[in-house]
Amino acid sequence: MKNSILYLTSRFDVLAMDKENKSKPLNFQPPSDFNFIRRKTRQIKIGSVPVGGQAPIAVQSMTKTDTRNIKVTLQQIHKMEEAGCEIVRLAVPDEEAVNALGEIRRNSKVPLIADIHFDYRLAVASLEKGVDGLRINPGNIGSKENVREVVRAAREKATPIRIGVNSGSLEKDLLWKYGGATPEAMVESALGHVRILEDLDFTLIKISMKASDVLRTIRAYKILAEEVDYPFHAGITEAGSLIPGTVKSSVGLGFLLSQGLADTIRVSLTAPPEEEVRVGYHILSSLGIRFRGPNIISCPICGRCEVDLLKISREIQKRLASVKEHINVAVMGCMVNGPGEAKEADIGLACGIGKAVIFKKGEIYRSVKENEIVDEFVKEVISLAKNTQSS
Ligand code: SF4
Repeated sequence: MKNSILYLTSRFDVLAMDKENKSKPLNFQPPSDFNFIRRKTRQIKIGSVPVGGQAPIAVQSMTKTDTRNIKVTLQQIHKMEEAGCEIVRLAVPDEEAVNALGEIRRNSKVPLIADIHFDYRLAVASLEKGVDGLRINPGNIGSKENVREVVRAAREKATPIRIGVNSGSLEKDLLWKYGGATPEAMVESALGHVRILEDLDFTLIKISMKASDVLRTIRAYKILAEEVDYPFHAGITEAGSLIPGTVKSSVGLGFLLSQGLADTIRVSLTAPPEEEVRVGYHILSSLGIRFRGPNIISCPICGRCEVDLLKISREIQKRLASVKEHINVAVMGCMVNGPGEAKEADIGLACGIGKAVIFKKGEIYRSVKENEIVDEFVKEVISLAKNTQSS
């Protein structure tokens, strides 16, 4: 190794370049400052999914349908399940929505959380329909008797309650006290709700502190982490449409995850919920925390490119969307720099004039005609993914 240069290509992959300029992968252990230390939290269970403690960081999302419409809600939940969503939240605004929950619950594999504002009766009725979690702020549901009713029903079924503090709906007295929805105001709001539940000896609690801007959200979680050991559900709320929302969520969640301050995550986008789930996994995998689906490395395209790589790459991504196995896939636009990257991936494509070469595990595997690139490459990736699954 003396005459080798080490360079980091991703969190775990280091290549050693020897004197002959040949590269070979090494068994690389990341330096200790790459090992994110999770904040110590209690563990709760949302249905079958453990949250907090040493449990894997769970990816969740929320349906965007009218819960009263059972058919379309179930269709959306199934798409979310397909994308790997582990916990699904639904808005339950009225009695009709509660009535739909029983059938939705029976036909969903993932645990469900009922999201309720203000009306404690909807919370109690949702628990009776078998939901696996509640999102309700006990300070907003009226008398102590109302809170007691919800806690009694939740305790009976050992169902956790998420306290969800949102900067847009803080209590008026806190807004006056702090001069606005500051992180400190959000923390005080959360602690007020926590106290109400603790006073009733209920500790199956999860907390979220969401603001639509990254810095406020981070600060709120950091302060709250000093005060409680309940698991955190993390996310940047109302982050925006696909591109700006993904950027905001990646920066915010990336920071919180790297500080060990998230036990479940939700990416909020003005986009279908399955997209939120996919972005969530991309964030986790970019930090080396959890992996799901292919890691597609595609070149940015330049004047050397001889094919319509944008179209090819989009089509490949679309057709691989349902693949669950984590394999590195490279899609490269030319024969100059393409083969290098394509060789390093588990499976790679380097396009040239009128044809493309497919590499598998660093070796040339086969070449394909330009009009067959997408069909043949997707076929090879799926076959490799299947073998990965069975090996
Ligand atoms: Fe350009 Fe080739 Fe690099 Fe793609 S792989 S950016 S086409 S040089």
